[in-house]
Amino acid sequence: MRHSHVQQGWVLAACAVLPPLFAGSTSGPSAAPNNVVLIGWDGCQRNHLKEMIARKEVPNLMALAQEGRLVDIDVTTGATDTKAGWAQILTGYAPEKSGVFSNARYQPIPAGYSVFERLETFLGPANIDTVALIGKKGHVDNDGPRRIPYERWLAQQKKQRRIDKAKPGRGNLEGGRIVEENGRKFVEVPGKPWFNASKSMDLFENGLKTNERVGTRALEELEKRKDHRFFFFIHFADPDHPGHKHGENSQECTNGIRDDDAWTGRIIGKLKELGLYDRTLVYVTADHGFNEGEMGHRYAPYVFLGTNDRRVNRDGDRMDIAPTVLARFGLDLAKLQPALDGIPLDQPAPRVLAPPDPPPALLKKRKAKP
Ligand SMILES: [Zn+2]
Ligand SMILES: [Zn+2]
Repeated sequence: MRHSHVQQGWVLAACAVLPPLFAGSTSGPSAAPNNVVLIGWDGCQRNHLKEMIARKEVPNLMALAQEGRLVDIDVTTGATDTKAGWAQILTGYAPEKSGVFSNARYQPIPAGYSVFERLETFLGPANIDTVALIGKKGHVDNDGPRRIPYERWLAQQKKQRRIDKAKPGRGNLEGGRIVEENGRKFVEVPGKPWFNASKSMDLFENGLKTNERVGTRALEELEKRKDHRFFFFIHFADPDHPGHKHGENSQECTNGIRDDDAWTGRIIGKLKELGLYDRTLVYVTADHGFNEGEMGHRYAPYVFLGTNDRRVNRDGDRMDIAPTVLARFGLDLAKLQPALDGIPLDQPAPRVLAPPDPPPALLKKRKAKP
């Protein structure tokens, strides 16, 4: 956010005197948590958040982090956008393996690669509820591949280019391969990132749009699944939406983050009410930040992770979140194929910072294929 010269460190709790969160848990030999809830604050820039922390505007995130940690997360591979972001956070793979490089260059994540599918396979479908409740429709989506007549595709591209020009970084242009059939030209648009993964999930619901609808659905589903073990991904489209509309430094953007925080508090409150909080790890993170003071996130690699998981003990990479979650459920990461690119956030890893300027591959003008 504006003029943030003082690099304020994360506020960390003196939690060393408290017992470990899952001590005394009777949930199994591994003392693994029963449940994990991963909450997304789409487009929440790290510096903007730090300024809000200084003003005490995100009390629920800070209360959560005081039980565990708040660390810096950098984006070092893949675009700083929504498709690449959530695909990476929920698989632990660099784009070369997931096939999701950016909002414009993507494919369905190969079957079996996501946290949802890994948990279903490892624990058995009857032993885990995997749920995704998603504010956005585009970019966190599961449509199958489709064919669009070439002329219609061209018209869509033209319209989309105008929108993208007004709001750089939004990046809704869709690529595709031209095919010809009986003298007619079509564009084949690939299936969306969550096309495969959503098939084995207990619930995949996107396009909920507002924080209120996402949050309300989350509370309902928690209530409904309280007697099952679960992994929830709860995605709030704020502050990305107000950020594109009013800019990163706008009050609207701040209000979006405040609202994310309020809903995060309600979700944690629900876990407590249901008696599940002591057995649930909660992670809050973002897919990308925002270009300072701008309307988009063309290159915005600085985000964060706040959690009550006190084993998290270092700053990390966007790829490190999935391995952290998988390890908490007891998976042997060394056995996963292909090898994960991320490393759990309680294991030592070289700190790779996002370069201050976008890598050349991201600077290339986005061209709609063909
Ligand atoms: Zn996003
Ligand atoms: Zn965005």
